[in-house]
Amino acid sequence: MSLNYTKKTISHFLHPQNLGSVKNADACVSIGNMVCGDQLSFSIKVKDGIIKDIKFLSFGCASNIATASVLTERAKGITLAKAKSLKWEKIVEDLGGLPNQKIHCSILAVEGLKKVIAEYEAKHPVPLVKLVKKKSKK
Ligand SMILES: [Zn+2]
Repeated sequence: MSLNYTKKTISHFLHPQNLGSVKNADACVSIGNMVCGDQLSFSIKVKDGIIKDIKFLSFGCASNIATASVLTERAKGITLAKAKSLKWEKIVEDLGGLPNQKIHCSILAVEGLKKVIAEYEAKHPVPLVKLVKKKSKK
């Protein structure tokens, strides 16, 4: 059985973008999928609520690497809120589609992004002082 990968998927698999780990990352997580053994790590650098840098490492299949590559391209330079709302359907669309049995690999990548943002937000809660100042301005 052979799977039909789009040209774009193959090109991202062969030349992944944002591969590696961010130096002095503000947050990093690993996420795994027991079904096909995919494993994915994300690290991010955040400034003023914007993802300044994001990198990934994958011990996964071609779809996993390609989706993580496209996803990091999309996530870089946008706000955490926007990054959280990225949908796997959109990422798959970016790649021109994925074989059905490989959709879970793209879901894993999006879950990983959400997880690293959650990790960042847990580590960097909005300081109380800021909240108080905002409120008093009203
Ligand atoms: Zn996979």
